[in-house]
Amino acid sequence: MSPAPSPVVLRLILGDQLNVQHHWFGSVDPDVVYVLMEVGQETGHVLHHVQKVTGFFAAMRGFADRLRELGHRVVYIRLDDPDNGQTFASNLARLVRDLGAARFEFQEPDEYRLDVQLREVAEKLGLPLACTGSDHFLTERDTVRNFFSGKKRFLMESFYRDMRRSTGLLMRDGRPVGGKWNFDKQNRRPYDGSVPVPPSPAFDNDVSSISDMLGSVGVRTLGRIEPARLNWPVNRRQSLELLEEFVNNRLAAFGTFEDAMNREHRVLFHSRLSFALNLKLLSPQEVLNRVVAAWDDGRSGITLPQVEGFVRQVLGWREYMRGMYWAFMPGFKKENFFGHTRSLPGFYWTGNTRMACLAHAVGQSLDFGYAHHIQRLMLTGCFALLWGTDPDEVDAWYLGIYMDGIEWAELPNTRGMSQFADGGRVATKPYVCSARYINRMSDYCPGCDYDRRDGAGERACPFNSLYWHFFHRNEALLRGTGRVGTVYATWNRMAWEVKKGLLKRAERLLDCQEL
Ligand code: SF4
Repeated sequence: MSPAPSPVVLRLILGDQLNVQHHWFGSVDPDVVYVLMEVGQETGHVLHHVQKVTGFFAAMRGFADRLRELGHRVVYIRLDDPDNGQTFASNLARLVRDLGAARFEFQEPDEYRLDVQLREVAEKLGLPLACTGSDHFLTERDTVRNFFSGKKRFLMESFYRDMRRSTGLLMRDGRPVGGKWNFDKQNRRPYDGSVPVPPSPAFDNDVSSISDMLGSVGVRTLGRIEPARLNWPVNRRQSLELLEEFVNNRLAAFGTFEDAMNREHRVLFHSRLSFALNLKLLSPQEVLNRVVAAWDDGRSGITLPQVEGFVRQVLGWREYMRGMYWAFMPGFKKENFFGHTRSLPGFYWTGNTRMACLAHAVGQSLDFGYAHHIQRLMLTGCFALLWGTDPDEVDAWYLGIYMDGIEWAELPNTRGMSQFADGGRVATKPYVCSARYINRMSDYCPGCDYDRRDGAGERACPFNSLYWHFFHRNEALLRGTGRVGTVYATWNRMAWEVKKGLLKRAERLLDCQEL
């Protein structure tokens, strides 16, 4: 008599958990079945960029193939499979039944919504359950909460320095190398053409079958995709290639031009690694190790300010934002400090605006699913805040349009940093600007239909009057918050006629649908 088969363990892998180095995959167990699924509940959660959906699905399908090559048992449910119930709950219930699973396991989801949902699903399945870490982040979910416990302010800088000390990255004898924590003053210059921008690496992934399937199933998406071309890394090999390309070609000028914006060069010296990082095709530790090693070997000509600028993003901001997300969810998702209720202007969906800066930033986002952090913070985010947009709408737009848009990263950056909807927990002041900043950091203003020097005239740059309107209408909320004192001092020094002209111009713009 043959022995009874061992009960199956069903392990769920989410689309942003494509970490082949996870401890789950260290050995092959024939009793473990891994499941990945494309589900309508996720494609329809917000309106996603078409490249984001195809990129996720291409990466998930490739990951399933890789696990099979390694000898693991894998079930992959495609979006158009006839048996697909289109939710995690229905598909898991069917698989448990069909496979006779006796245990359900999953990795910690990074999104609050899915964390709640999977625990409910697990309870309904009525199986013994295990939830394990994702082996990805450098900190735990509650590290930031614990770090700031009992403190009034949540300064990223304090957290970042603590991370430098605890990891020893860019530290020597307990002190920061170079004697400084921060090289911002040497960094963040406008792009002047002094360093040639290398061409973007092309991956040319053929995703036509996925695009066709999205069309046949009727998935609504935004943005554009060239037929059969996805220029994003969808597996570990391509992700490592992108990391090498960044280290070899861009890192040496990364910090210097990290805040610059340019019509011709949409990526400039940025790494574009966030998609691969957020899907866990790469680990932040290996990215940091590679970048620091490139500086440390002394041969590359990469200077400390460039490396520190990058380390600050990955070791500091990325871990901090993830920790702030878990510290303040679910309330974070409802915060609306200014009580904003307006809708995003229509050009956020088309790029059709006479404002050259926003036409470029939105246009490249629609074309490519990408804009770098200053384009997001000081152009699209800034305008949405000046416009008085409901943060729910801003969140949904950012979550959908960007390749790296996953809620743990998107929400604290958008609702916290960019929209100041948390009242100043993440940001120490509202990040808004007039044309002066945009003109200093970009080449957008020359040739724009609007006049960057004018505040109140018919051709006046909308940023100028909306900037003052924002501070004027929110004076009761903002006056007294430390870092806007000089703004109100300047406003108070203005002649009433000047103020009146700016406010009238802003009111006209806010009534207008065509900008
Ligand atoms: Fe943007 Fe104003 Fe400059 Fe035009 S003038 S590009 S709207 S900042």
